[in-house]
Amino acid sequence: MARVYNFSAGPSMLPEEVLKTAQAELLEYGSSGQSVLEMSHRSPVFDAIFQETKAAVRRVLNVPEEYEIGFFQGGATQQFAMVPLNFMTTGKADYLVTGNFSNLAAKEAAKFGDVAIAASSEDKNFTYIPSMKDVTVRPDASYVHICHNNTIFGTTFNEVPQVEGVPLIADMSSDIMSRPVDVSQYGCIYFGVQKNIAPAGMAIAIVRKDLLGHAADTVPTMMNYTTLLKKDSMYNTPNCWCIYMTGLVMKYLENTIGGLENMYKINAAKAKVLYDYLDGQDFFHNPVQKEYRSLMNVTFTSPSKEMDKLFCDEAAKNGFVNLKGHRLVGGMRASIYNAMPAKGVDELVAFMKEFVRVNG
Ligand SMILES: *Cc1c(COP(=O)(O)O)cnc(C)c1O
Repeated sequence: MARVYNFSAGPSMLPEEVLKTAQAELLEYGSSGQSVLEMSHRSPVFDAIFQETKAAVRRVLNVPEEYEIGFFQGGATQQFAMVPLNFMTTGKADYLVTGNFSNLAAKEAAKFGDVAIAASSEDKNFTYIPSMKDVTVRPDASYVHICHNNTIFGTTFNEVPQVEGVPLIADMSSDIMSRPVDVSQYGCIYFGVQKNIAPAGMAIAIVRKDLLGHAADTVPTMMNYTTLLKKDSMYNTPNCWCIYMTGLVMKYLENTIGGLENMYKINAAKAKVLYDYLDGQDFFHNPVQKEYRSLMNVTFTSPSKEMDKLFCDEAAKNGFVNLKGHRLVGGMRASIYNAMPAKGVDELVAFMKEFVRVNG
């Protein structure tokens, strides 16, 4: 079997080594006589998996003690509602709109209170991140929200707004675990796991403890961080398989990769190969301002829509799949998350050169 290079924005590739471990343990986990797929979430065997996974997330991401870590269903999109429901204590919240997901998060929050746009890059179709000096946060905002890596537009923050007394909340769905994060800069970080960690079906939130306990009584139980975290993410049946897979990927990051500093070096080198190629020719074009380029999602266009389609079709035939860009941007997008091997990017660039030789 030849595994393809899957450039999907999510769900996305998982490390082959992790998939093989999951395969080897599928029928029987340890000497439990059963699969993780069948296990009670209340069993001692699963409890050990859960506690080790949570501890590993804390170690890998270097999460300080004053933060809780929770595992939730409903994806990152449900977090868009949970954040205002739990943290919009003054009735006001400020959002930086730097792409599609931050826009969706702001719209969801506006259902629950007074949302102001602290800065936006919509004027140039989200090809940059506003300068932090152009960000205006109201002093009585309950929090300020950003999307740290814009999956669709291929941009990322290099510095984040720090406003005295106003907690920063970040959606890190598409770049979590790709590089070290200074968690202490944030009140809450949340992410869907299907881009860089595990299969689809779960979100993780890291919440500073002082933000808990302020939700209104009317907030649904399943959307109340305080209740769910008090029950250690076991208020109801969690996504056991996703938790187990998260644990395997954390082990891989620690033992095979050697931590997030190393992961960052690998990711930076991979992205450099692709961006250097894009910068050195004029058939393909990357629209993003250089200093805000994402290391995870690389967008590019060819001279025409027809050529874009031909490129994606030919690429797929050659084992490079899911390169079609999002409809909001057009063209192509290569998502090169942690699990995309460097070889996949090298071979993609070789394919692009050959495509230009034939069609350019
Ligand atoms: C994919 C993605 C989402 C949506 O995640 P779901 O788990 O599908 O709800 C939200 N934010 C960002 C930045 C994403 O990349």
